[in-house]
Amino acid sequence: MATAEKGTISIHTENIFPIIKKFLYSDHEIFLRELVSNAVDATQKLRKLVSLGEYQGELGDLRIEVEFDKKKKTITVRDKGIGMTADEIKKYINQIAFSGAAEFIEKFKDKTDAKDIIGKFGLGFYSAFMVADKVEIISRSYSAGEDEAAHWVCDGSTEFELEPTKKAERGTDVILHINKDSEEFLDEWRLKGILEKYCKFLPVEIKFGTEEHSERDGEDKDGKPKYKTVKRDRIINNTNPLWTRQPADLKDEDYLAFYKELYPFSEDPLFWIHLNVDYPFTLTGILYFPKVKNDFELHKNKIQLYSRQVFITDEVKDVVPDFLMLLHGVLDSPDIPLNVSRSYLQSDSNVKKISQHITKKVADKLQDMFRKERAEFEKKWDDISIFVKYGMISDEKFYDRAKEFALLKNIEKKYFTLDEYREKVAPTQTDKDKQVIFLYTSDPGKQDSFIQSALNKSYDVLILDGILDNHFINTLEQKLEKTHIRRVDSDTVEKLIDKDEKLDSVLTQEEKDQVKAIFEKAIDNKNMTVTVESMSTDELPVVITMSEFMRRMKDMAKLGGGGFAFMGNMPDSYNVAVNANHAIIQRIIRTEAEEDKLKLAKQAYDLALLSQNMLTGADLTRFIRRSVELVS
Ligand code: ADP
Repeated sequence: MATAEKGTISIHTENIFPIIKKFLYSDHEIFLRELVSNAVDATQKLRKLVSLGEYQGELGDLRIEVEFDKKKKTITVRDKGIGMTADEIKKYINQIAFSGAAEFIEKFKDKTDAKDIIGKFGLGFYSAFMVADKVEIISRSYSAGEDEAAHWVCDGSTEFELEPTKKAERGTDVILHINKDSEEFLDEWRLKGILEKYCKFLPVEIKFGTEEHSERDGEDKDGKPKYKTVKRDRIINNTNPLWTRQPADLKDEDYLAFYKELYPFSEDPLFWIHLNVDYPFTLTGILYFPKVKNDFELHKNKIQLYSRQVFITDEVKDVVPDFLMLLHGVLDSPDIPLNVSRSYLQSDSNVKKISQHITKKVADKLQDMFRKERAEFEKKWDDISIFVKYGMISDEKFYDRAKEFALLKNIEKKYFTLDEYREKVAPTQTDKDKQVIFLYTSDPGKQDSFIQSALNKSYDVLILDGILDNHFINTLEQKLEKTHIRRVDSDTVEKLIDKDEKLDSVLTQEEKDQVKAIFEKAIDNKNMTVTVESMSTDELPVVITMSEFMRRMKDMAKLGGGGFAFMGNMPDSYNVAVNANHAIIQRIIRTEAEEDKLKLAKQAYDLALLSQNMLTGADLTRFIRRSVELVS
């Protein structure tokens, strides 16, 4: 049997502990993830030896246990894995970890954003010193007898002690003597929370305390079932999570149940994609398309990133393309360098490939659904359009895929692909320059009078009222050839689609000038530009519009982009089109007294404002008084 020994942990490591403490200051809880992961690794290694026929002993119960003792101020992580001999402790704990430490110090001594660095450099075990001022390892290797175990103690300095000891069971106990600042961890709910966050899907069962549950206990005298409360071990994890299983073995119910496991209380997702790649990188996972109700919901449930079933983070930026961050679910890849800083992640070629792969899979799935079950796809479109549109706006490659299945919805709630729609409207909505004009409404309620005018002319109107639609329209205009997209209220219906044939006017030029002057006087607002136009007699006497160009500039200014900020401060300016062919205008011309002319003009103008919800306050009150007067 070996003798006790004292030693100094090797190489320039005097300053490792302050650095560990500094870097992981905000994230002390990960010590538990690191220790439990080590325990899982040790257990998996043992299983491997068994499968290779190198270990024939009893495996017994391989459960990992996490315990704490409030009085002694300890937390223990116990496994029945491969264990370590004294020599192995020296090699793996003292030397290897610290040569990693040297590299670590060298690389990150000036950085401050290096969260989660520790595991990358084989320092996982040493994260224990963030919360403990003394750490013990009691380990018995699978190859060692009961009295050939090793006991290592280190107080966070570079000194350690290693002596032989007895241990009845194979495996390793890591005992942390929790320091003063970390006593918060000596708490059942805190520890349970941490385990549930990081260890929920680890492949070896993890026991933490006990829990009560009710169990059937025979029947009472009336034959009704009786129940009793019993204590049982509390197992933290599901060792066989859905994403690790074969898609062919799984049913819809399984996916829905797993979604509930990930996000309790959430509404069922629309559909999902099971990722399963092993070349040129390893990636498994399940991405769910959630039913999106509002902006707030979008970000509530995030995609969780795992590495070999260990939870790493739910900040998946850079790994998942931006537009797919709205999805939910899990990704698991040992090939993502999880423990390094963000800038490294962005330039990592695996990460780029993974992101492209995910984009491709999502496009495949959508295309497949569109082709095989178009009716179903149309039903889901309103919910998924936000993902697809965001993707088309932000990702060139995705646009090229999605242009086949992206849908446009018109006012009759019919759905068309981009090609189908262009074909549908081209005969009626091509202007004199051979441009096909798509018309849309951003608010069917408010823009109803314009929509009706367009429909009267046998034009079609799309509904584009989503939060991304302004951007989506810009993207479409850039991509679609000879196509323009205009909002129905951006001009009078006569000029919305500029054709060669024009309606005749019943007014002479002189009369037109007179009408214009009267309206200008009646309106008396320099932000309203009056024109007199020939429209059909069933159009309103006055139509108020804001040009497509003007409105887009204003929208951009609101978003603060494109150097249009100055436009944000400009008052809204509108075009007031007076319908020269309308009966009221005829009446204005025939009316003698200027006062009466003005009153009629004002009334017609107010009606136009009213039709667009633009008449408010004192103007509205005056309009109502005048209306009452005119009627009586
Ligand atoms: P990493 O896990 O990244 O290799 P660690 O510092 O966490 O780095 O551990 C260093 C080594 O110590 C491990 O690679 C392993 O060989 C050994 N080790 C740590 N914990 C255990 C354990 N519970 N059982 C057996 N070996 C362990």
